[in-house]
Amino acid sequence: MIIELANVGIRPKAIELTLSPDEIELDVNGVTLAGDVKFAGETAKIDEKVHVRGSVAANAEIACIRCLEPVSQKFEIEFDDIFVDAADEPSDDELVLEGEDLDQSFVIDGKIDLAEVVREQIFLELPEQLICREDCKGLCPKCGSNRNLIDCRCYEDEIDPRWSALKDLR
Ligand SMILES: [Zn+2]
Ligand SMILES: [Zn+2]
Repeated sequence: MIIELANVGIRPKAIELTLSPDEIELDVNGVTLAGDVKFAGETAKIDEKVHVRGSVAANAEIACIRCLEPVSQKFEIEFDDIFVDAADEPSDDELVLEGEDLDQSFVIDGKIDLAEVVREQIFLELPEQLICREDCKGLCPKCGSNRNLIDCRCYEDEIDPRWSALKDLR
């Protein structure tokens, strides 16, 4: 769904949108969107700036960084994005970035792709390092088995060097 900056007025306009994972195109390694993504919110012009705000609800499967098994994650994201027409902005040397301006995006062609806005919000919420459980044993570095599921015994015959001294004493 494309929002034209010029069509956004002072009176808020409600938007409800369901986007398929294909439309979101979240291209992140180890992350798969599970089912449709829902956006409920509005557009409105406030102080000459276009706001797109509301909430995004999404479910994703994210690979555990240790064992790579998918972990289900639910996202409920509230956001308020501000868009400014790049043509309305002063030229670079006049442009002073103030704290409150940092959160706004410049729009080049007067159009905002809502799928892109939603994708960005999900992207920002993704956990950097997710583990399926505190004591996840991860993959065996030797054979690649998931050690939560299989006791691959790769290290059974190896003696922990900390104990070898004791063994010599016997
Ligand atoms: Zn794991
Ligand atoms: Zn192994």
